[in-house]
Amino acid sequence: MGVRSPQIAGRRSDDAEAGDRVARRLALVLPLLFVPAHLAAALTSWNPIAPPPLLFETLGASIACAACCWRASRSRGRARQGWLAVAAAMLCWTAGVGSQFVGSLTAAGAVGSGAISMFLFVLYGVPLTFVLASPAGDPWRARLVDGALALILGGLFGAFIFSFVALAGADDAGALTLAWTFDIQNIFIALFALVRFRASSNGRERRLFGALTAYAVVYMAVAAFYNHLVDDGAIGVLASPLVAIPFLVLAALVLRSGGSASVPRAGRMFERVVVAGSPLILPTALLIVSASLVPHMPVLAIAGCVVATLGYGLRAVLVQIHGIGEREELAQLSQIDPLTGLPNRRQFDEALRRELTRARRSGQGLALLMIDIDHFKLLNDTLGHQAGDQRLRDVAEALQSCAVRATDVVARYGGEEFAAILPGASTTEAMAVAEAMRAAVEERTLPSPAPDGRVTVSIGAARLTEIEIDTGPRLMERADAALYDSKRAGRNRVTAAWPVEEPARALG
Ligand code: GH3
Ligand code: MG
Ligand code: MG
Repeated sequence: MGVRSPQIAGRRSDDAEAGDRVARRLALVLPLLFVPAHLAAALTSWNPIAPPPLLFETLGASIACAACCWRASRSRGRARQGWLAVAAAMLCWTAGVGSQFVGSLTAAGAVGSGAISMFLFVLYGVPLTFVLASPAGDPWRARLVDGALALILGGLFGAFIFSFVALAGADDAGALTLAWTFDIQNIFIALFALVRFRASSNGRERRLFGALTAYAVVYMAVAAFYNHLVDDGAIGVLASPLVAIPFLVLAALVLRSGGSASVPRAGRMFERVVVAGSPLILPTALLIVSASLVPHMPVLAIAGCVVATLGYGLRAVLVQIHGIGEREELAQLSQIDPLTGLPNRRQFDEALRRELTRARRSGQGLALLMIDIDHFKLLNDTLGHQAGDQRLRDVAEALQSCAVRATDVVARYGGEEFAAILPGASTTEAMAVAEAMRAAVEERTLPSPAPDGRVTVSIGAARLTEIEIDTGPRLMERADAALYDSKRAGRNRVTAAWPVEEPARALG
C-alpha cells in the first residue's frame, strides 16, 4: 500500500497534466471553429433572431457553462464554489437564449419565450453578484444570507426591468432606460470583478476573478453595442456572432486557467478592505434598485430597503459571532501545550503571577513544585522521539491526577519539565502532593532504558516564605535548586527547600 499510493498519486497528476494540455489546445481551436461557423449561420439567415444564429448563441453560452463546470470539478475549496457559481450564471444565460431559440422555431412560442428569457437573463446576474460580493472565507451562515440577498436583489431587479418591458414596445425612452439599466449592471459586474481580481492574493481565486473580469468587460461592451445599436438593421448580421464572443472568451480563459500562476502581492490593506467591504455590494445594490422602484412599486421599494438593512445587519452579527468564537479558540490554544494538553509555559507564568498576588492578599501561602523526568535523553535516544512523546503524555496524565484541588495548576514548563502551583498548600500538604506525583509516575511502570527500567521523576518543592517580599523568580530558583538536589541524591525523589527554620527534608 505504502508503495502503491505514490504511484497512484503520480498517475493522477499525470492525468491532470494531460487534461490541462488538451484543454489548452481546445481553448485555441474552439474559437477558430466556432466563430466562422457562427458567422456563416448568421450570414445565411440574415437575421440574428432566426433559429441558426440563436442556436449558435445557445451553444456558445453552454460551452462556457461546461468549461466552468469542468474547472470546478478540478478545483478545490473557495475556487470550486466560485467556478460553480459562474457555471450557474452561464446556465441561466444558456437557458435564456435557449428559450428564445425554441421560441424562434414556432411563431406562437416566440411571444411567451420573450418573458421567460428576460427572467432568465435577470437571474443570470444573481450567482455573479453572489460570487463577487460574498467572500468565500466567510462563515457559511453569512454566505447563506448573501445568497438570499443576491436572490432578492435579482427579484427586485427583475421587477424593475419588467416595469420597463411593458413600455419598451411602445416607447423609445423606455427601451433606452432598459438598455441603460443593463449597461449599469454590466459595468458594476465588470468593475467589481476587476477589483476582486486586483485584490486577490490566492492564485486560484485570482484566476477565477481574472477570467471573470475579462469576460465581464467583453460582455459589457457587446451588450452595450447590441442594446444601443443593433436595431439599425445594417449591422444586425454581425450581432449574433458578437453575442457569443464573451462566452468564447470565458471558455478559452477557463480552459487555459490550469497550472500554477505567480501571484503578485496586492497591498495587504487593499486586500483586506476589498474582502471585508465586498459584502456591502449586495445591500447597496438592493438600496439603489429599491430607490428606483419607489415611483412604480412603493411597497416593494420599502420592503427592499428593509431587507437590505436587516440582511446586512444579520450578516454582520453572524460574522461577529464567528469571529468571537475563533478568537476564544485561539486564545485557548495559545495557552495549551499541544502535546500533553496541559497549560503551557505562558499560562503557567500568568497563573503564578495571579496566585502570588492572591497569596499575598489572603496570607495563605503557596507552594511550587518543579518536576523533571529522569534520564529522558537516554529514553529518547534509545526508544525514539515518538516513544518519548508518548511518555511525556503519560507522565502529564499521572501528574495531573494528583492535583486534586480545583485551584492547583499543573503545567508543562518546557521540554521534559513540568511545574505545579499549589495555592494555599502548607509544607506538609505540598510534600504529600509531590510524593503522590512521584509515586504515581513510578507506579505506571512506563518502560525506560533508565537504570530503574521505568520512567521516574525528580521533584523540587519550594514555598512562599516572606509573603510580602518574596517573588515568583525567587520561588522558582529555590524549587529548581531543590530539584537539582533530588537529581544529585540519586533521582526519583522529592526534595523540599523550606525556610531555614524548617530543615530541608528528602524523601526517597
Ligand atoms: P536528567 O535525569 O538529569 O534529567 O537527564 P535527562 O536526560 O532527562 O536530561 P536532559 O535535560 O539532558 O534531557 C532532556 C531531553 O528531553 C532532551 C530532549 O531531547 C528531550 N525533550 C525535550 N522536549 C521533548 C519533547 O517534546 N519530546 C521528546 N520526545 N523529547 C523531548
Ligand atoms: Mg531537564
Ligand atoms: Mg530530565
